Amino acid sequence: MKDCIFCKIANGEIPSATLYEDEEFRVILDLGPANKGHALILPKAHYENLYELPDETAGHAMILAKKVITKMKEVVDCDGYNVVQNNGEAAGQTVFHFHMHLIPRYKGDNAGI
Ligand code: 5GP
Ligand code: ZN
Repeated sequence: MKDCIFCKIANGEIPSATLYEDEEFRVILDLGPANKGHALILPKAHYENLYELPDETAGHAMILAKKVITKMKEVVDCDGYNVVQNNGEAAGQTVFHFHMHLIPRYKGDNAGI
């Protein structure tokens, strides 16, 4: 979608700190991380939110989230994980291209969401 920053990042038109990429998704580090290792899963196709996301893509996104947090847990040695996904301005969505937040949590941290 024209003028969508996450379309451009997901499709490699804008460089990003990419952790993983396949035909359907790119996983990047968040520019304003809530905690060390905060990553985002972006589909390469544009869907505004979870309502628009096809069921099959939603399933793949959740499987990918599981893989990424399992691997990242080893890398950043976190104690827990928040998997967060905002839909709509009222819910805190600021970029209107579906994405999942993967936020490592550390005992006693202050990254409450
Ligand atoms: P939302 O509030 O829509 O759920 O989350 C948007 C997230 O995207 C925020 O955590 C914000 O820091 C991140 N973000 C916004 N613009 C960029 C960008 O250009 N690059 C990256 N890597 N993250 C971004
Ligand atoms: Zn988009």
